[in-house]
Amino acid sequence: MSIQIPRGTQDILPGEVEKWQLIEEAARKLCEKFQYREIRTPIFEHTELFLRGVGDTTDIVQKEMYTFQDRGGRDLTLRPEGTAATVRSFVEKKMFGDAQQPVKLYYMGPMFRYERPQAGRYRQFVQFGIEALGSADPAIDAEVISLAMSLYKDLGLEKLKLVINSLGDKESRSAHRQALIEHFEPRIEEFCGDCQGRLEKNPMRILDCKKDSDHELIKSAPSILDYLSEESSSYFEKVKQYLTMLDIPFEVDQNLVRGLDYYNHTAFEIMSNAEGFGAITTLCGGGRYNGLVEEIGGPETPGIGFALSIERLLAALDAEKVELPLTRGIDCYVAALGDEAKDYTVGLLGKLRKAGFSAERDYLNRKIKAQFKAADRLNAKYVAVLGDDELSGNKINLKSLADGEQIEIQLDEFIEKFTELCK
Ligand code: ATP
Ligand code: MG
Repeated sequence: MSIQIPRGTQDILPGEVEKWQLIEEAARKLCEKFQYREIRTPIFEHTELFLRGVGDTTDIVQKEMYTFQDRGGRDLTLRPEGTAATVRSFVEKKMFGDAQQPVKLYYMGPMFRYERPQAGRYRQFVQFGIEALGSADPAIDAEVISLAMSLYKDLGLEKLKLVINSLGDKESRSAHRQALIEHFEPRIEEFCGDCQGRLEKNPMRILDCKKDSDHELIKSAPSILDYLSEESSSYFEKVKQYLTMLDIPFEVDQNLVRGLDYYNHTAFEIMSNAEGFGAITTLCGGGRYNGLVEEIGGPETPGIGFALSIERLLAALDAEKVELPLTRGIDCYVAALGDEAKDYTVGLLGKLRKAGFSAERDYLNRKIKAQFKAADRLNAKYVAVLGDDELSGNKINLKSLADGEQIEIQLDEFIEKFTELCK
C-alpha cells in the first residue's frame, strides 16, 4: 500500500498556498505597523518547559503533547504552542535588560497537538501569536486585542465577536477560588473525572470544561467579576475604555477563563459568528500572564499575548465567503517555434527574470497552440512569440492576452521595450 499523510495533518498545495502566503504577509505587515518583531524558536523544547509554562492541569499537557526521548535520553516535546518558548527565550537571552521596553514579539509557525482531528482541529497547525513583555499598562492589553482584530478585519472578516473578561489579581483569584470550591464541592460527583481532579487543584478550569459546559452549576457559578479587587476592577475598566476608544466592540463573559495561576487580569477570545461555521467558533485566544516569566525562571515581568491559527482563520473566510485578493499570473510567456528560436529563449527568459519579470516557457516541445494554452493557464499578461524567421530578422512578436493586441519589437531592444510597456 502507498504511504499516506499522517492523520490530522495536511498538504497545502499550489492554488491554496497563495492564501497562506497572503495571510502570513498581512500578519507580518501588521506586526511592523504595531512594532512587534519576529522571534523564531525551535520546533522542539525540553518537555519541562511546557509542564511549567503551559501547566500540568491543561488538556495540552495532560493529553495532547508529542513527547519523545532523543538518542541522548533527553525528554523533548514538539511545541504545542508558542508562548512558553518565547518566554523561555526572553529569560535565557535576558531581553528584560534590553533598552527597548516593553519587548514586543511575534511568532508564526507550526504547532503540534495530539487531538481528535475534525474541522478546525489539526494535529499540526500554524499559529500566529504575539507577546508583549514588560508592561502592565492596560493600553497594551487593548493594543494586543486590536492587532488580532485588525488582522481579521483587514482580510475582510465581518462576523466577529470579541469576548473579554478579567481574572483579576492574586487576591481576587484566591477569593474566587474559595467560592468556586464551595459551589462545586457538594455535587462534584456529577462532573467528569477531569473536573473532579480540578476541584482542589484548579477549580477555575471546571468553567472551561468541554464535557460539562451545559451543567447548571457551571451556569450559576460565582463570577470572578464579583471578586475583583479595586485595583483589578479599575484595570478592567481601563481596558474596556481603551477598546471603546479604538472602536472595537466587545462583550463581557464572566465564564471566559484561563485556568493557570499565572494568568491574570485580561482574558479574551475572538469568535466567528458566521453561519455554518461549525461547532468550533473560537478563532483566537489570549490574555495577560503576569506570573509566567517568573515561573520560567526570570524576573517578575508582566506579559500579555494571543495566539490564533491560520487554519481557523481560513475556515472563517470560507464561512463568510470572503475572496482574498490573490494576484495570480505571470508577466510574460515566451513561446518559441523552431530549434534555434527555442535555444534563444533560454537566454531571453534569463534576461526577463533578471529584469524583475516573472516569465515562463515551454519545456515539453509543444506545438505553438499548446504553448498559447499554457500561457492562458498561467494567466500571462503577454506572450512573446519567436520563430526561427523572426530570430534571423532580429524581431519578436508580442501579444497582449488582455486585449489581443500584437506588436512587433526589435529583438535586441526587447527587454527595454517590454519594461516600458509594463510600467
Ligand atoms: P480549543 O478550545 O479550540 O481547543 P485552545 O484553548 O486549545 O482551543 P489555544 O491553546 O488558546 O486554543 O490556541 C489559540 C488558538 O489556536 C485557538 O483559538 C485556535 O484558533 C487555534 N488552535 C488551537 N488548537 C488548534 C488545532 N488543533 N487546530 C487548529 N487550530 C487550533
Ligand atoms: Mg485545545
